[in-house]
Amino acid sequence: MKLNSLQDLFVEQVRDLYDAEKQLVKALPKLAKAASTEDLQTAFETHLDETQGHVQRLEHVFTMLGLKPKGKSCAAMEGLIAEGKEMIDEKGDDMVKDAGLIACAQRVEHYEIAGYGCLHTWAQQLGHHEAANLLQQTLDEEKSADHKLSHIAEGMVNMAAAHGAQEA
Ligand code: FE
Ligand code: FE
Ligand code: ZN
Repeated sequence: MKLNSLQDLFVEQVRDLYDAEKQLVKALPKLAKAASTEDLQTAFETHLDETQGHVQRLEHVFTMLGLKPKGKSCAAMEGLIAEGKEMIDEKGDDMVKDAGLIACAQRVEHYEIAGYGCLHTWAQQLGHHEAANLLQQTLDEEKSADHKLSHIAEGMVNMAAAHGAQEA
């Protein structure tokens, strides 16, 4: 597909994120299973539900554009998920591993935030206001997922510090 217009680029990037979100739907249950902290498990499970909604919103966007939903393989998400898988397979302290899983998940969220930020801007510029609205909703959920992960990580650092103080 040739990118001759912003519209072409918009569609191409919707396809990239559509594939990325579908990859994530498969990966999030594995992250949830690998998490030791209940908070983190719940965060991954909640974001799985949201991510299924992100897939549906993108399908809605395709329909609005008069297109059939079709993904274009997202190499970045493949790489981010591969790193997540490496972390899942690591041996060691549960808390340290959880911190590692959070770091992997936040990389994913930041990738999505960048993607939806661009798509939202282009949708507005192209006059796709309903699509822009849907993209904004997902963007907000990705940002709040990212904040929640930061919050859990900060809580874990405090817990680990308390644990260390006990051992000393
Ligand atoms: Fe998402
Ligand atoms: Fe991508
Ligand atoms: Zn996400």
